[in-house]
Amino acid sequence: MSFSELYQNVIGKGLCARCGICKGICPVQVIGFDEDAYPLLTGDCTECGFCTKCCPGGEVDFSRLSETVFGASYSPDTLEGYTENRYVCHPTNQECRLRGASGGIVTALLEYLLEKGKINGALVVGMNPETPYRSLGVLATTVQEIRDAAQSKYSITPSMEALQQIRKSKGKFAVVGLPCQIHGLRKMAEVDSALSAKLEYILGLYCNCNLNPRGPIEAIEACGISLSDVARFDFRGGGWPGGFFVTRKDGSTIPLHTINIKNVMNVMFRLYGADRCGLCVDALAEYADLSFGDFWTFDYPDKFQELERCTLISQRTPKGLELLREAETDGAIISHPLPEDRMSKRILQMSQGKKNRAFVRLHKRGIKGEATPQYSFDFPPPTTKAKRSELFYSLFTLLRGEHTRKMVLKILFSPVGVLLDRINILRKNIFCNFGNN
Ligand SMILES: Cc1cc2nc3c(=O)[nH]c(=O)nc-3n(C[C@H](O)[C@H](O)[C@H](O)COP(=O)(O)OP(=O)(O)OC[C@H]3O[C@@H](n4cnc5c(N)ncnc54)[C@H](O)[C@@H]3O)c2cc1C
Ligand code: SF4
Ligand code: SF4
Ligand code: SF4
Repeated sequence: MSFSELYQNVIGKGLCARCGICKGICPVQVIGFDEDAYPLLTGDCTECGFCTKCCPGGEVDFSRLSETVFGASYSPDTLEGYTENRYVCHPTNQECRLRGASGGIVTALLEYLLEKGKINGALVVGMNPETPYRSLGVLATTVQEIRDAAQSKYSITPSMEALQQIRKSKGKFAVVGLPCQIHGLRKMAEVDSALSAKLEYILGLYCNCNLNPRGPIEAIEACGISLSDVARFDFRGGGWPGGFFVTRKDGSTIPLHTINIKNVMNVMFRLYGADRCGLCVDALAEYADLSFGDFWTFDYPDKFQELERCTLISQRTPKGLELLREAETDGAIISHPLPEDRMSKRILQMSQGKKNRAFVRLHKRGIKGEATPQYSFDFPPPTTKAKRSELFYSLFTLLRGEHTRKMVLKILFSPVGVLLDRINILRKNIFCNFGNN
């Protein structure tokens, strides 16, 4: 079991999710990345097999993970994954709340854990100080570092490479990751128990898709801003729900769009979504202790409407529950239980859409004899509706050529884009019913 096997079975077959686990776990540190964040060998591989065994790109046994993480069997019909409770939460610290992507709860919980001495650091994702439009994995060991890494980074980031630092450090750590990264972390428990034992909390972000790093770069350029002028780039800057936001070196700030971020992301995913994300069947970080997503109040007609700027939480493990209870008792967060039948229909629909599209693609690739990730459960045969939806989604890949995608961005960030967005919202209001949550 060696790096060449990882290359042959995963990276070379287009199955690498660029999670960074292989680099993070390699005991002799002979894995690096190319400029697109794909792993490559930089030294002599000792054939220990750690990287191949932890890699989530080619194989994740959902049934096995369900048994080991939750002691429960996996249900292929689930849209949420194994979930004990759902909450809508916000921190009591308003600064933390305002800094966050949704309600700042992930940052608040990490700060709480660090201040209480329950962890010595947290693996998070920040922006590269030298190229502030590129993200990178960071092992944050102070409250300030955790706070600086708040906000979602919608860009492929092999952040699990920072496991290398955790291996060298003493103590307990929390890790924030996307669903694919959490698959790799859970697989790691069976391979490197010493490193795995240091990971006290595994916090997951919901994930519909992720962007190739050139996405945000071309978005900035499409707005006529030179990269050399950028001091800071936020994916969710400028107040809830936030959006692409540039701070120039002269201190001036420029929001790149007025359209709602989720509608901008829907276009960005089609233009810049990573190919491997199209084969991914986990939208809600189904194997985390706690998973986090946006809470859209406009879908709720009653008291939940008041909970603007909150984070939606899926609590999955007793450890996750204990953390929420303790943080609330100690006054760090405020939580509102969300009954199962009030779970956000928008999020469930996102999960359904993602799974359906992936099932169609896995099916198609299987027929063509192409490599597919193995999830070790029988996915349902694709329905005509799912095939139609996948076809419609795939049509957008025709716009992925360099000139066309740049033209689409220019339109998206112009008044014409705003008009098209309004028409699309009208269409959704007629055909999609989220309003009776
Ligand atoms: C690529 C991506 C896709 C997402 N898709 C959806 C979606 O479709 N629907 C939805 O409801 N929510 C989605 N989310 C989650 C959502 O954007 C928020 O991150 C989540 O609600 C937590 O908000 P918060 O304010 O509590 O977190 P914050 O307090 O802002 O903290 C966020 C934490 O996540 C870390 N982080 C940021 N980006 C990454 C990353 N790329 N990889 C690993 N860690 C990271 C930060 O360092 C920080 O610690 C997505 C997030 C990402 C990064
Ligand atoms: S983890 Fe082991 S098998 Fe993988 S590259 Fe490093 S030494 Fe080789
Ligand atoms: S561990 Fe992650 S980064 Fe490494 S090959 Fe597998 S999917 Fe790619
Ligand atoms: S869509 Fe899946 S593979 Fe892509 S970043 Fe999200 S969790 Fe990872």
